[in-house]
Amino acid sequence: MTRNTLQITGYVLTNRCLDGVLIMGLYERRYRKGLIAGISVLLFLMTAAVSGCSWFGSSESKNKGTAKQPKAITCPLCGMKVADGSLINRRPLAVKVENDPAARPQSGLDKACVIYEEITEGGITRFMAIYLCHDAEVAGPVRSARPVDIDLASPFQALLCHCGGAPPTISAIKSSGIADLDEQAGTGAYWRSRDRRAPHNLYAGTERLRSDGNVKYPFEGEVGEAFRFLDDAGIEELARIRAEEAERLAQHQADPQGEYQPKVNLANGIEIPYTKVCAVSYNYDTATGRYLRFVRGVPHTDLTTGGQLTADTVIVQYVVESVSGIKDVMGADTPDLGVVGSGRAQIFIMGQCIDAEWNKSSRQEYTRYYDYDGNEIQMKPGLVWVQLVPLGKEVTYQ
Ligand SMILES: [Zn+2]
Repeated sequence: MTRNTLQITGYVLTNRCLDGVLIMGLYERRYRKGLIAGISVLLFLMTAAVSGCSWFGSSESKNKGTAKQPKAITCPLCGMKVADGSLINRRPLAVKVENDPAARPQSGLDKACVIYEEITEGGITRFMAIYLCHDAEVAGPVRSARPVDIDLASPFQALLCHCGGAPPTISAIKSSGIADLDEQAGTGAYWRSRDRRAPHNLYAGTERLRSDGNVKYPFEGEVGEAFRFLDDAGIEELARIRAEEAERLAQHQADPQGEYQPKVNLANGIEIPYTKVCAVSYNYDTATGRYLRFVRGVPHTDLTTGGQLTADTVIVQYVVESVSGIKDVMGADTPDLGVVGSGRAQIFIMGQCIDAEWNKSSRQEYTRYYDYDGNEIQMKPGLVWVQLVPLGKEVTYQ
């Protein structure tokens, strides 16, 4: 295990992973370009500051214009407005939902604020669905936890809801101090459906999970903001920028004379090649500003509503995959995913891709996402899908 530190344009990136040197090499190449761009932007901002203009979405002027308005209550995890503040003053849930083909379609993923997709044994992915401002009457199928789940759930102060895990994982959960509601520890919050065979038939409702969890882990804290979010003006601005770029591209395609230099990276379709059975893709829907989710080329739907799952923001976070030393009941190796440290990311919002980096300084800290100028990226309010993609698998988009 190595720990690398890299000072870049005023902030420090740390990296804790087996292939840290590889990643840092990538960074250094990227940042030679980024540094030049960063200096240019800095000079521009200094000029802008002197002249009194505000270039970044004029947050100052917007604040002036809305100063008399009562501040809307928004969910700290998904950025959506909530009518009742009590909905966000409770402990988030982190529910482990399986993605074996026999588990599809799942239930309740559409009610989550944030969903992590992580690769497990045999190339099958599994979800960690974080619930706060919405409740799901039915969520699942619920399956076992993995070592990476502790790092992912901790900053949310979430109640980890799962069905067992390998003995070393259970030991790690217990020693971590995380709030834990394991079905195999005897809680009655889960039930088995007769519509599916075990182990693909364990479900739970979020209200019961939370009330049972509160018995052992009463929550009196405050849920920290997991992401920064765009306001309405920011969303409109991105829609305008996308429309302009699409128009430029269309003009170039109609008359391909001269060189076409895109100002932004249009991303109408995203392909995430986890494995054949868990190949994920997203298609951008201009009408709603959301990405529609597909698995193996067919719509990924919710069992309860029949509707297709969507993403307001898709975060592709490249992580180092290594061998954890833990095996599942079939003897297959459980991969370990390095989510503490830093690495490369791609943020897909409003039909565009922003090249980014992620940084999570410790288990307890949220992961933050920055553009190559060092600005923290603002997500689109709504469901955030975080796709943890092992280094070496390249996500493509067009
Ligand atoms: Zn929310």
